[in-house]
Amino acid sequence: MPSIHTDILIIGAGPGGLACAKLLAENGRKVIVLERNSKEKIGTKVCAGGITWDGLIGLVPEDLIERSFCDQYVFSNYQDVVVREKNPIIATINRKTLGKWMAQQAIRAGVEIITDTRVNAIDGLKVTAITGSGKSKTFTCSNLVGADGSTSMVRRNLGISADNLGPGINYQIAGSCEKMEWHLNSKAFGYGYGWIFPHKETVSIGAYGPRGNMSGSQLKKNLIKWASKRGYDLQGKPCQAALISYDYRGHAFGSTWLVGDAAGLASGLTGEGIYPAIVSGETVARKIIDSTSPDDAITAMVKKQQLHHRVINLSAKHPAFCSLIMETLIMMLRLKLINFHALEMATADRRGGG
Ligand SMILES: Cc1cc2nc3c(=O)[nH]c(=O)nc-3n(C[C@H](O)[C@H](O)[C@H](O)COP(=O)(O)OP(=O)(O)OC[C@H]3O[C@@H](n4cnc5c(N)ncnc54)[C@H](O)[C@@H]3O)c2cc1C
Repeated sequence: MPSIHTDILIIGAGPGGLACAKLLAENGRKVIVLERNSKEKIGTKVCAGGITWDGLIGLVPEDLIERSFCDQYVFSNYQDVVVREKNPIIATINRKTLGKWMAQQAIRAGVEIITDTRVNAIDGLKVTAITGSGKSKTFTCSNLVGADGSTSMVRRNLGISADNLGPGINYQIAGSCEKMEWHLNSKAFGYGYGWIFPHKETVSIGAYGPRGNMSGSQLKKNLIKWASKRGYDLQGKPCQAALISYDYRGHAFGSTWLVGDAAGLASGLTGEGIYPAIVSGETVARKIIDSTSPDDAITAMVKKQQLHHRVINLSAKHPAFCSLIMETLIMMLRLKLINFHALEMATADRRGGG
């Protein structure tokens, strides 16, 4: 069977792949996105749907936002603090709605998204995929973008391992609550954290921890026990889990590129990854269009990620001091020695800068 050729082939229709695809198509490039999920399932990635207002509001329309919050409630073992700002700090978004909207935008710009198609072999710029009906298809391209998430095949194919991966678990339960809560409870979550994020008609309750903190199954057990003490019965309820990659080792490898989780651009500390995925997707698109285009936006996120790494490494090296580190963090928030934005990946300007 003859292969299909395109200028740019993107593997993965998550926020990173779709942001990259849209910008390329808007600039006249022929783009194909391959996605293993069905059309209806684009964007159904496990996620708490928390997005930083400053970063994402410039990237997605306000009417996609489910709830927004000027107050953040942060708890440690012994203290709590309410971080209050005049403008919203964080909002929640439904991942499926975001995915659907991003896919529509990309298609409108001229992108071809081929769903139900799982890539199973990569040989340089030649990619083989299997369709839902079991047919094999071959694609060739001038540029290949790996936007295939934290267990990226494109990344593996480049010979780059992903060692810094942390498990995240999310329960999306029916109901409502008012406060957006972050729990740096070292007894339950080690040097990870638990969250309660209100959505429109549901509540996201979950936990995340960096690599080496505790196993995913232990984290889940602790989450269920912790949530039950807070009045949420998660036992036996459906939950979703996935790994979050914060192991950045580069994004440009000749004609092959990595964006989002595939590039390991999420925060190891908070697990925030939607913003880095969209920004890196757009940055790589600009770079493909014009090789002299700067990648300062990625550099700025990597700088922030390294800062987060230092906090993780300190907690990992001194587990006994983990609680002390959490209490210090809360104390610093209380005394306004740091602000909430120090924890966000979105503080840096989209096109770079501090
Ligand atoms: C429990 C949990 C909670 C989270 N909460 C938040 C949060 O509140 N806020 C936030 O900002 N981030 C959060 N994240 C992280 C966020 O979900 C990711 O960082 C983000 O989705 C990364 O986007 P991406 O486009 O790089 O990859 P993904 O969204 O993972 O998209 C990758 C796409 O590639 C497709 N794909 C993979 N392999 C293949 C293949 N072989 N062939 C074809 N297609 C393939 C997948 O189906 C998928 O659609 C959370 C993660 C977890 C696990």
